[in-house]
Amino acid sequence: MSGVTRVVVASANPHKVAELRDLLGAALPGLLLVARPPDGPDVDESESTLEGNAFLKARALVAFTGEAAIADDTGLFVAALHGAPGVHTARYGGPNAEPEANRAKLLAALDGLDAVTASERHAEFRTVIVLVGADGSAVTAEGSVEGWIAPSAIGSGGFGYDSVFIPLEGDGRTFAEMSETEKHALSHRGRAIRALAAKLGSPTP
Ligand code: IMP
Repeated sequence: MSGVTRVVVASANPHKVAELRDLLGAALPGLLLVARPPDGPDVDESESTLEGNAFLKARALVAFTGEAAIADDTGLFVAALHGAPGVHTARYGGPNAEPEANRAKLLAALDGLDAVTASERHAEFRTVIVLVGADGSAVTAEGSVEGWIAPSAIGSGGFGYDSVFIPLEGDGRTFAEMSETEKHALSHRGRAIRALAAKLGSPTP
């Protein structure tokens, strides 16, 4: 992967690009992270694993731009739901579900179970991030955070499932009640990005 300086991010979300610039760019100042072109490929995330879907997104972008690409995929795995929504986290509430519908479905699914114990509200966010070079070479990294699903949505920050996720290593607040800096220190994606930065920063064995 030596010589890679320009990397296209497989997301049009300016927050994700900024987050990557903060966490990855800070560790690797030679890396120029650019947002995915507006006419970039729409990828059907059809794989059964986070890694498979991250690779689908990154490889489609490499094929489209001819440049290196970085992509991630995240899932929320809830114990009482036998690991659901898992790889289907983004579309849990339906094919184009809004975040609020996803959260509502999750809370209703847990409320609908008989005698859900506290430990069954246990959940884990997992992220897999991959950097695929223009030559097809790849580096992957993962990050995860364990927590609980709150009884109802709390907090107004963040996005997605942040208002229903209470990290175990925190102080009882949901991610949506934390500053971005607090969340990044604990979060699945923060950890995955830092793990990738560490791999890219260290010489290959
Ligand atoms: P994606 O792989 O980043 O598209 O995320 C998949 C799903 O997980 C989407 O529904 C996101 O809203 C949700 N998600 C990803 N990361 C987070 C997070 O840090 N907090 C809350 N929800 C997240």
